[in-house]
Amino acid sequence: MEKAFESRLRVLYLEDDPRDAELVQETLAADGIESEIIRVETEADFIVALEKGGFDLVLADYTLPSFDGLSALEIVQRNWPEVPLIFVSGTLGEELAIEALKRGATDYVFKTRLSRIVPSVQRALREARERGDLIRAQEALRQSETYLAEAQRISHIGSFGWDVASGKIYWSQETYRIFEPDPASEPTLALVLDRTHPEDRAMVRQLVDRVVNEKTDFDFEHRLLMPNGSIKYVRAAGRPSQGKSGSFEFMGFVSDITERKLGEAALQKAQAELAHITRVTTLGELTASIAHEINQPLTAIVSNASAGLRWLSADSPNIEEAREAIRRIARDGNRAGDVISRMRALFKKAPMTREHFDINEAIEEVVALTHAEAQRSRVLVRTRLDRGVPPILGDRVQLQQVVLNLLVNAMEAMSGMEEGRRELLVSTKKVSDTKVPARESGSLADESSYVAVAVRDSGPGLLSTSLAQLFTAFYTTKPHGLGMGLAVSRSIIEAHGGRLEAFPNDDRGATFQFTLPVSRG
Ligand code: ADP
Repeated sequence: MEKAFESRLRVLYLEDDPRDAELVQETLAADGIESEIIRVETEADFIVALEKGGFDLVLADYTLPSFDGLSALEIVQRNWPEVPLIFVSGTLGEELAIEALKRGATDYVFKTRLSRIVPSVQRALREARERGDLIRAQEALRQSETYLAEAQRISHIGSFGWDVASGKIYWSQETYRIFEPDPASEPTLALVLDRTHPEDRAMVRQLVDRVVNEKTDFDFEHRLLMPNGSIKYVRAAGRPSQGKSGSFEFMGFVSDITERKLGEAALQKAQAELAHITRVTTLGELTASIAHEINQPLTAIVSNASAGLRWLSADSPNIEEAREAIRRIARDGNRAGDVISRMRALFKKAPMTREHFDINEAIEEVVALTHAEAQRSRVLVRTRLDRGVPPILGDRVQLQQVVLNLLVNAMEAMSGMEEGRRELLVSTKKVSDTKVPARESGSLADESSYVAVAVRDSGPGLLSTSLAQLFTAFYTTKPHGLGMGLAVSRSIIEAHGGRLEAFPNDDRGATFQFTLPVSRG
């Protein structure tokens, strides 16, 4: 027999005759069941012994001088329901025996047929063990249900099951908490639709019809309008499955995502406000700069115009001065117009186009374009273009503007240098990281994922207090500069997923380099 007790069966025996206890012990031992029997005669001793605990089994005589078996049974049933009790009696009649079983005794054995106690004890212990297993399983189930309900409550995720044919819906506690139905009402699709925000109802209805027809998974968000007028956002997701009776069901979850939605809305609002503030600030700076840039030529225009007028009206011989004044008016007018058109070109909202192209070819076109200017400025332009660089995906024209801007800046920077020392080198090469300056990345050959374009000059080098300053809008060291070229160039490169940076050269001059991610496919 599989043992339900440690080594020896611990028995509490309610019996006034010590010989009976010995007999029971011997009978059990004859069948290999070692036992330790504690014999008591009174109710008080019986209870004290039980309270000490540790018994696998209670045996009880039916009638005792000061106590009776049925009362003992009642005490055990009430306080130690897991301990089996067997009546062992000489007097028990058939009727009383049945009564005892009805009241929950495990068995009864007549003293005259004591050998029956062995199978009886075995059965009692087996049943006790099974009962124990069942109780433990139920306890574990209850525990896991408690954990699940708690997890659902904390995460605001409720579960549901929906038998489509019968319309029966099962909701977990949390799903009830989310939908807050009338306590008396059963969960139904009608109830769900009723709770759904009127503006979302048609959408939900359609979705439900579709997933039922197509028996597909679903996952969607909608709003609930609660009885107190508040709005909840929920996400409902589920999948079809075969029910126990072969019917078609949906199982899934409903999650209360109100907090997340409200957080997202607040974030969006804050971002919009920030964008607005940034726009207003930039516009303010821009306006101040335009005013400043145009003010100079306008002052000259006005003073030349009045001088010209004075000279003309006086019928004097100052016609040459008047002509000169008018020429200046025209020149300064053009300058003012030039500032305006450059501003317009810089801020024109041309959408970025994307095409695959050869960056080397695009650079050669720009270099050719600046050929005349280079000759005039006595600049020696060289190129070192790596023919192995992969194609670029991006806006060819915008990227050519960046290269042009870097070339013009470099030529302007070198204008004060000795002739014959004005050298400009435009190069391309593959690099593996946007952060690596081209001159340090020579060894990173083929696993490269960026193309670096560098414009190196032999000018005076970088004079600004910080490298970052170069790229800020309106920073310029030129009398008629706008200080927008590098700022706009950097934003073009960043829109392409690359970086534009400036480095002082080891010997003299500066290198402006940008990287672009290589197009894949
Ligand atoms: P702008 O050319 O109108 O001044 P940019 O934004 O193109 O505007 O350039 C900003 C400033 O960066 C220039 O005024 C100059 O001081 C500095 N800079 C740009 N390119 C070079 C270069 N190659 N060498 C030295 N300084 C440069």
